[in-house]
Amino acid sequence: AALDPGELTALDLFRAASRGAPALYYFDMTQTYADIDRFSDRLAGVFAQKSVGRGDRVAVILQNVPQFVIVSVAAWKVGAIVVSLNPMYRTPELRKLFKDCEPKAVICHDDQWHNVFAAAGSVDPELVFWTSAREFQQRNDVRVLPEPGTVPEASALAKVFAGDASAPPAPVMASDDTALLLYTSGTTGMPKGAMLTHRNLVATALTCRDHFELSSKSRIFGVAPLFHITGFEIQMVGAFAAGAAMVLTYRFQPQVALDAFIEWRPTFIVGAITAFIALMNQADATSRHFESFAHIYSGGAPIAPSVIDAFARRFGREIRSSYGMTELTSASHLAPNEGRIPVDSESGALSIGRPTPGVDAIVVDDERRPRGPGEHGEVVVRGPGVMAGYWRKPTETDEVLTNGWLHSGDIGFFDESGWFYLVDRKKDMISASGFKVWPREVEDVIYSFPGVREVAVVGAADPYRGETVVAFVSAQPGIVIDVVVLSRFCRERLAAYKCPADIRVLDDLPKTESGKITRNTLRDGLRSR
Ligand code: ATP
Repeated sequence: AALDPGELTALDLFRAASRGAPALYYFDMTQTYADIDRFSDRLAGVFAQKSVGRGDRVAVILQNVPQFVIVSVAAWKVGAIVVSLNPMYRTPELRKLFKDCEPKAVICHDDQWHNVFAAAGSVDPELVFWTSAREFQQRNDVRVLPEPGTVPEASALAKVFAGDASAPPAPVMASDDTALLLYTSGTTGMPKGAMLTHRNLVATALTCRDHFELSSKSRIFGVAPLFHITGFEIQMVGAFAAGAAMVLTYRFQPQVALDAFIEWRPTFIVGAITAFIALMNQADATSRHFESFAHIYSGGAPIAPSVIDAFARRFGREIRSSYGMTELTSASHLAPNEGRIPVDSESGALSIGRPTPGVDAIVVDDERRPRGPGEHGEVVVRGPGVMAGYWRKPTETDEVLTNGWLHSGDIGFFDESGWFYLVDRKKDMISASGFKVWPREVEDVIYSFPGVREVAVVGAADPYRGETVVAFVSAQPGIVIDVVVLSRFCRERLAAYKCPADIRVLDDLPKTESGKITRNTLRDGLRSR
């Protein structure tokens, strides 16, 4: 009898892939599903010996390297929960997160080893593994060398992989078990660990497989970090679901990515719009670099229509939209693969797409009453990707989760045809002289100003108006932005209260590792002045 997808685990998806098929390409190295299976068996054997088992947390603090995939599969082989943490974190950040999730084992890069030991507290030192990115060959330009003397001799993980294959431990999981604990990426306040079950991961990965037409012939380019939901779920679990291969490059660097496009001919990419902007800024990027892609998607942050247009003009390819969040196991809304994606005539917002199969989405007002087409309110989503809750945070869980409906904190609306649009995040609204200003609308206008590379709009406290609008912009290479002309450009296109009272040009805008511009960093910078 066919297996009920609802009963599967992410490990079942991995095991269903053809063993001889390539699972990942990493610079000049290829690993098959059988290779990953063998390496992960060895690590799972060590976990089992040390009684790391069902429900225990295994902290994975790695960039997009083959070891990330191996360690995740190994953790699931003993029924453990993968806790994926940003490798940029330093000791105090790690200490806080370790205190919250209490990992039993930790796997990190060798340059992080000292941070991890300093933060690990009660973790058994024999369950702290470090690894060098160089163990799986890597080009000089992205090599990360540990500081001399900071790492004790050879990598602990390499020793495990070189050891004898231990018998794979017995399967000990149910689809309702938590598979992944992922802290929201921290563009707002204190990180909360979203508990995503195997059922969440499997259902969303199968949806992605079908929507993006992924198969064993697909090559998914890893533009998003694997420690972020897009990377983990769409790139990695999505690859498992299709038996497809991932193309990994340690971390996203535009020139390295372009080289990999030519070398590996990837067929699918989904990433933050800032990654596509960075690719556009590479002088030697051509349409040839993008010709192998069957589908190109962006999500995770607002997408300005003018950026999509510029990309299409330059490369003859369309970036299509999606919407999702960690708490929804990545995408809940996707634009179809073909046809025009509508733009809202009033706000100029590009639609984020429609709810995926099995997902219900509505918009509610402040009293949580459903709203009709065109009416603004909070987007609320129900479906197979909705998280089980926040790890050890029942109060915060109750604030966002009611009867299976997840309150996204995003303001949006839908049109008569069921297309959804995002206005902005609830908390990012600026109240200028009592008028509501949504940063995204102002940003979309500034993005259409020639020479602008990136923009972020935030509110600054103002004794008379409550808040005023401040825009931070960066320029394309070799361009100098005339703020007087840009200011006039805004006034011609936006009501006076929406126009930035202050435009500041920066070399670069601050971003999270997943490529999202962090408006809160900019806001805090204004406050502390
Ligand atoms: P934190 O929760 O700490 O703020 P984060 O929100 O960046 O971190 P994610 O779960 O990665 O963590 O992001 C989800 C959010 O990203 C959504 O709630 C929404 O605000 C934004 N987002 C996702 N897709 C889109 C899109 N297509 N357009 C606009 N915003 C989007």
